[in-house]
Amino acid sequence: MRGAGRFAPSPSGDLHLGNLRTALLAWLFARSSGRDFRMRVEDLDRVRPGAAQSQLADLAAIGLDWDGAVVHQSDRLSHYDDAVDKLVAADLTYECFCTRREIQQAVTAPHGPDGHYPGTCRDLTSEQRRAKRDAGRPPAIRLRSEVADFEVHDLLRGRHRGPVDDVVLRRGDGVHAYNLAVIVDDAAQGVDQVVRGDDLLSSAPRQAYLATLLGLPVPVFAHVPLALNGDGKRLAKRDGAVTLADQRAAGRTPDTVRGALAASLGLAEPDESPSMTTLLDRFDPGALPRTPWVFTRS
Ligand SMILES: [Zn+2]
Repeated sequence: MRGAGRFAPSPSGDLHLGNLRTALLAWLFARSSGRDFRMRVEDLDRVRPGAAQSQLADLAAIGLDWDGAVVHQSDRLSHYDDAVDKLVAADLTYECFCTRREIQQAVTAPHGPDGHYPGTCRDLTSEQRRAKRDAGRPPAIRLRSEVADFEVHDLLRGRHRGPVDDVVLRRGDGVHAYNLAVIVDDAAQGVDQVVRGDDLLSSAPRQAYLATLLGLPVPVFAHVPLALNGDGKRLAKRDGAVTLADQRAAGRTPDTVRGALAASLGLAEPDESPSMTTLLDRFDPGALPRTPWVFTRS
């Protein structure tokens, strides 16, 4: 097994230039280290019809290729259920009846960052659980974490230790949580290198911990700086001219867009459009910009 990198978009709309840039980086990290490159559509939630096809077409248009069939998470629900069952059987879970509002209103855990679950349902008695079930609210399944934090290895940041809380594994409506699905899928696809935006860095410790509990290998990570707009906020569709379709409408070819993304990574001169092979030759993870890419409409 030679290992693999991956890109795993959520098909909620068109990819923007920041997403395409992260995908290009994931491809470069994988190919430059002799790995396969896998593609996965994370379509458990918030799916816009047709978006997955459009995203894959855009990725191919700027020059990415991938190995094997595209995996769709919606085809893999039984695997996620198996993983939840395994954790339930190991007594590493509990039922949570909280609403999102209740969690927000509860006092957050003393050392946890905002949004961490305060543990409200962790020690309910079986009678309390029965009463809540009888009240008709289907419970979410949460991890009963036995650690407060966990360490991962990040190619750009070195060792990173971060908090682990009692994350949701499966929501009350039956939808499996992102944190669970990604580790099950990465293991199934042979992914041992995860390159993605650094907004997901805080998810890495809990995903690595979950993988360990399930006996799955923990990948090495590379969390790359995001693309920001001129106001220093995360780039979004509302910033305009940010999708490949927008860029095409403005007269730019996918090759030109690839060149602009490469230039933003220090891999091309302005107005140069190197091939993927050339980019691979030039790629040096150690020389990547460590600050966000600020995209201003032009
Ligand atoms: Zn709860």
